[in-house]
Amino acid sequence: MFLRKILDKKSSQNKQNSTRKMPLVMTPGPVLVPEAIMEAVALPIIHHRTEGFETDLAWVLENLPKIFKTKEKAYILTSTGSGAMEASLVNTVSPGEKVLCVVGGKFGERFGEIAKAYGMNPIIHNVEWGKSFKVSEIEKILKENPDIKAVTCQACETSTGALNPVEELGKVVAKTDAVLIVDGITALGATNLNMDQWNLDVVVGGSQKAFMLPTGIAFISFSKKAWARVETSKTPRYYWDIRFEKKANEKNQTYFSSPVTHIRALKTALEIILKVGTDEFIQRHLLIADALRHAGKALGLESFAENPSSTVTAFKLPANINGEQVQKIMQDKHNITIAGGQDQLKGKIIRIGHMGAIEKSHMLVTIEKLSLTLNELGMKTDTTKALAVISDKLKNLKPLPHVEV
Ligand SMILES: *Cc1c(COP(=O)(O)O)cnc(C)c1O
Repeated sequence: MFLRKILDKKSSQNKQNSTRKMPLVMTPGPVLVPEAIMEAVALPIIHHRTEGFETDLAWVLENLPKIFKTKEKAYILTSTGSGAMEASLVNTVSPGEKVLCVVGGKFGERFGEIAKAYGMNPIIHNVEWGKSFKVSEIEKILKENPDIKAVTCQACETSTGALNPVEELGKVVAKTDAVLIVDGITALGATNLNMDQWNLDVVVGGSQKAFMLPTGIAFISFSKKAWARVETSKTPRYYWDIRFEKKANEKNQTYFSSPVTHIRALKTALEIILKVGTDEFIQRHLLIADALRHAGKALGLESFAENPSSTVTAFKLPANINGEQVQKIMQDKHNITIAGGQDQLKGKIIRIGHMGAIEKSHMLVTIEKLSLTLNELGMKTDTTKALAVISDKLKNLKPLPHVEV
């Protein structure tokens, strides 16, 4: 009820300023936060060194690895996803050591930048934006450079919407001395990603993506092969030294002050995901992504990524349509936030995120308003047809269950 009061207050404030209500956030992070999670966020603050909080933390630490599909522990970092990317490198690679960074977009570049900042020796393997990496090419580089200590990649490169063959890469890297570091920030929880079975050594996730939480915490897990590196890495580290966290977690505590609000919200998110079932939750994303792509096709839009992820869809735009205009009209006129292209893709694509708490109604209104927007910009689209397509594809989509906070 407290939450209702805040929401009412917020929308009446918005009404005074303009006629707009709360925006519908359809971006690949942050994502929509379901009401049960907002209720958890609104809970009064308690101290983190208390039994009440430690019980919640213990539950979260026990259940989080289920999302990674690992028998190892998973850790919570108080940072955005990029902090966990940094933690993955500083704990497993020493200065001067070679890191093969597979780069197919903005987030791939980030690993290269982090490696460079710490004096590691990044070897950049560029993949055309929108394409998925080819495992055979990476295998060749690994053979030519047996001294590569780590390979970094994105399970889903959010800037292009491309899904990568991480499982296949796992088989190749497992035969070498290198550890495989996977940025699963827009994959973990929402796409098929099996840390143990696929031989992934470090997997990273973020709260404001498939976990349906506000931005602010990140997740990371290390395989046994990666743990051996944690003990020997010569890279200076303090905040990111995962050994502190490991020790604290053994006592159901976090090493630094716990993000109490986020962790209780994470508990609610995990309860929702586990109630749906981890595999069902993944299936749900596949269904929504497939529906969106078919509806996009009905509008005359093609996927930019060759092998698109089920968490974010990038649509190529016709040459006469500017993506930034599409974003602006969607925001200003229809109150729907979508993402655009970055760098070389600026204005050329739009990206729609569909992770977590997306329901049929969100997809319908997004397609309807996108169609109207494209029409306004001079593209002939058939709104009725696109709506019929998406509505039919999503006819069996079950709403996410409610959980009590
Ligand atoms: C969002 C995202 C990040 C960055 O996460 P921040 O929380 O903004 O630091 C990194 N990698 C991928 C694939 C992402 O989608």
